Amino acid sequence: MNNAVLVINSGSSSLKFQLVDADSGVARAAGNVERIGEPWSAVADHEQALRRAFDMLATDGIDLQACGLVAVGHRVVHGGMEFHQPTPLDDTVIGKLERLSALAPLHNPPAVLGIRVARRLLPDVAHIAVFDTAFFHDLPPAAATYAIDRELAQTWRIRRYGFHGCSHRYVSERAAAFLGRPRDGLNQIVLHLGNGASASAIAAGRPVDTSMGLTPLEGLVMGTRSGDLDPGVIGYLWRTAKMGVDDIEAMLNQRSGVLGLAGERDFRRLRAMIESGDPAAQLAYDVFIHRLRRYLGGYLAVLGHTDVVSFTAGIGEHDPAVRRDALTGMAELGIRFDEDRNLAASDGESDGVRRISTDDSPITVLVVPTNEELVIARDCVSVLGGYRRA
Ligand code: ADP
Repeated sequence: MNNAVLVINSGSSSLKFQLVDADSGVARAAGNVERIGEPWSAVADHEQALRRAFDMLATDGIDLQACGLVAVGHRVVHGGMEFHQPTPLDDTVIGKLERLSALAPLHNPPAVLGIRVARRLLPDVAHIAVFDTAFFHDLPPAAATYAIDRELAQTWRIRRYGFHGCSHRYVSERAAAFLGRPRDGLNQIVLHLGNGASASAIAAGRPVDTSMGLTPLEGLVMGTRSGDLDPGVIGYLWRTAKMGVDDIEAMLNQRSGVLGLAGERDFRRLRAMIESGDPAAQLAYDVFIHRLRRYLGGYLAVLGHTDVVSFTAGIGEHDPAVRRDALTGMAELGIRFDEDRNLAASDGESDGVRRISTDDSPITVLVVPTNEELVIARDCVSVLGGYRRA
């Protein structure tokens, strides 16, 4: 394998990994070590988790020393103002990432932990951080700025950063390639609907708006996150329910969204609950769809002219009912959706990219399987000078 990159996504209780051939785009192996540090778990910490990942690779017949490994790519959620390029990791950079943890307390500390362990266990290879915020670094000020006290915002670097950047970038590139058009000649909306969910508007290849903000909490309704919320709710809960700020944040991040409304965050099980007549599940779904349509309509207005809308990630790729309910009744806005195409499975052509709009629809609607690991792997190789960034 040429230009093999081990991509690591280190979370607080799980470590996902994938060994990617950056040239061919083929994933040689992938896995997820879960329940790190949880009671009764055999995986005590991130070092054990990574050692277990190496064991899983070895079981697949992969010897990391002999497989042409050129880099370890680390997914880092928050790059703050400073990091918007793939960045080789050294002690100085890691120190800066630690200081960014205040901006992303749930995500950056476990990523830094994963980086430290991986550098120790694989000392002879380049370690490179790729940031989820990077794609949105140049959001226009009108979209990036919160309407709050300007000095306060400057002092504390409060702005809209945007996340899922690797996915939004990859999907917009794949959509353009599928249509045989240059990305900078298309206006696109990307709907990334997984456990975390975000939408972006991309004009001529440049992101002009995105639904996530200072943190990944803003925007769409998600598996466990509320998305948009009147900021007044926070003060109200603090004052009247006597909840502390950590409690309120934990509630908004971990016990809200579809889970908070229906008691279930997984969309397949939510669907089964709706079918059995569960009114809470139905309401959770309706709130999810309503918010999604509001963002879609908003971005059609932000762009003025839209060429492509793409659905991606677990729900976006696999749940035809969500796509139907997001798109019906939008013919006057330029979206003519084809129910048969929507229900058809991918025929395996074009990396699974497929059209679900009618041939005469002014706006093309696509399903595009995302591949964040490949973006990270190729970014790593580009830093090493072996691959030009798209
Ligand atoms: P993550 O943000 O954890 O990467 P994913 O992109 O894997 O999330 O998306 C997870 C979500 O996708 C879950 O809610 C899951 O139920 C949903 N999902 C996956 N497959 C299907 C399917 N076939 N039908 C409906 N929903 C699905």
